[in-house]
Amino acid sequence: MSDLKLQDPDVYAALAREADRQNNGLELIASENFVSRSVMQAMGSSLTNKYAEGLPGRRYYGGCTYVDEVEDLARSRARALFGCEWVNVQPHSGASANAAVYLTCMNPRDTFLGLDLAHGGHLTHGSPVNFSGILYQAEYYGVEPDGPLAGRIDMDRVRDTALRVRPRMISIGASAYARDFDYAAFRAIADEVGALLWMDMAHPAGLIAAGVLNDPLPHAHVVSTTTHKTLRGPRGGMLLIGRDFPNPFGRTAPKSGRTRRMGELLDSAVFPGTQGGPLMHVIAAKAVAFKEALEPSFKEYARQVQRNAAAMAEEFLARGYHVVSGGTDNHLILLDLRNRDMTGRQAEQALQAADITVNKNMVPFDDKSPFVTSGIRLGTPAVTTRGFDESACTVVVGMMDRVLQAPQSDTVRRAVRGEVLELCHAHPLYDFVTA
Ligand SMILES: *Cc1c(COP(=O)(O)O)cnc(C)c1O
Repeated sequence: MSDLKLQDPDVYAALAREADRQNNGLELIASENFVSRSVMQAMGSSLTNKYAEGLPGRRYYGGCTYVDEVEDLARSRARALFGCEWVNVQPHSGASANAAVYLTCMNPRDTFLGLDLAHGGHLTHGSPVNFSGILYQAEYYGVEPDGPLAGRIDMDRVRDTALRVRPRMISIGASAYARDFDYAAFRAIADEVGALLWMDMAHPAGLIAAGVLNDPLPHAHVVSTTTHKTLRGPRGGMLLIGRDFPNPFGRTAPKSGRTRRMGELLDSAVFPGTQGGPLMHVIAAKAVAFKEALEPSFKEYARQVQRNAAAMAEEFLARGYHVVSGGTDNHLILLDLRNRDMTGRQAEQALQAADITVNKNMVPFDDKSPFVTSGIRLGTPAVTTRGFDESACTVVVGMMDRVLQAPQSDTVRRAVRGEVLELCHAHPLYDFVTA
C-alpha cells in the first residue's frame, strides 16, 4: 500500500484510521466479520479490470479464459460446501441475489409471505421502502408475544396466515432472529398452499455450511445468501438450489421449446435481468473464502461462534437482561432494553464511546421508531475470528453491563476503553493497511 500512501495520502489516512478502529475496538455487529489476507488480496487484484458478462464458457466478451477458471473454482467449491447441484456466484450483494429471486418467482403485485421486519426480517422481504414491498404484495408472519414460544416463530400460526393470504412464495430468513428454522415444516406449508419456498440465509450461511444449524437446501426451492457475514468471504451474494428442477411456471427456451430449469431462470434473472458485468475480483475472493470454509478449521470456527453467542446470552440473562426468545441457537443475540429504562440508540452510543460496536435494533412489538428502537443486536462472528473464546466473551458482557449501568459516566467509559484495548492486543488482527 506504499503506492497509495504516496499517491493519495487522504484516502490512505482514512483507510489507516479505519484499520486502527477495527484492530483496537470490539466488533459485535452480528453481520460483520474479518476476512483473511488471502481474501483481501484476491479482491485487490487485476480481475477488477475485467468485463465478463455471461457465464463461464458463454461470455459476451473476449479474454475470459482465466476469469472463467476463477468462476468455475468458485462455483465448484460452493457446490461442495453446501452440497448443492446449482449455484450462481455473481450477485453483487445479498439484496441483488434477492432481486433475482423475486424476478424469477413473482409477477408484479403477486403476494408473498415473509417474516415481519419488526420481528427480525430484512428490508428485502417486503419493507414498504424497498422494491420488494413496492412491486409486490407483502404479507407477514411474526414471532409470538408471550407464552412458551415468546420471541419465536409458531409454525401453526405461519400455516394459518399462509392459508388465509395464499402466497405465491413464502420466504424464510432474518437479520435479527436468534433461533434456528424448521425448514421441513415451512416446506409442508408451502406445498399445502402451492407456494414456492425461498430461504435467505444471509446471516447464518457459515454456520449452515459448517453443519451446526439445520440445512435449508433439501427443503427450499431456492436459497439466497450473502458471502460476507458468518461465511467470512468478501462482500457479495450468491444463489443456490439443492436439486435443480424444471421451472413450475412453464417457461420454455426460445428456440427448442424445452422447459427451462429453475437454475437457468435464476441465471437469467441475475444477468441480464438485474445486473450487468459481474465483479470478477470479488468472485475470486469468494472462491478463496469457500476453500477456507471447506477446511476442518472452519467447522471449529463455526462451533466457537455458536458457543460464544450462547455464553454471552447466558451471562446477559444472569445479569438481569431480557434476551429476546430467552437465548440463541446461532451467532446473534437480541437484547430488549425496555426493562432497563434505556433506548437502543442510547445503548449503542454509550457502548461506542467505550469502543464496543453494536447496532440498535427494533425488538418484537417495539413501540419506538427504527431510529430510536428498544433494543440492541450483537453477534460473535467477528470477535471469534480474532480468537475470542467463551471466557473472553463473558468478560465482554461484564464490560458492556458496566457501560449500560452508567451510560453517561466518562470514568466508566475510559476504564472500559482501556480494557477493550488490552483484550484487542491479546487477540491481534493482521495489519489491514499493508495487507
Ligand atoms: C444482510 C442481509 C441481506 C442483504 O445483504 P446486502 O449484501 O447488504 O445486500 C439480505 N437478507 C438478509 C436476511 C440479510 O441479513
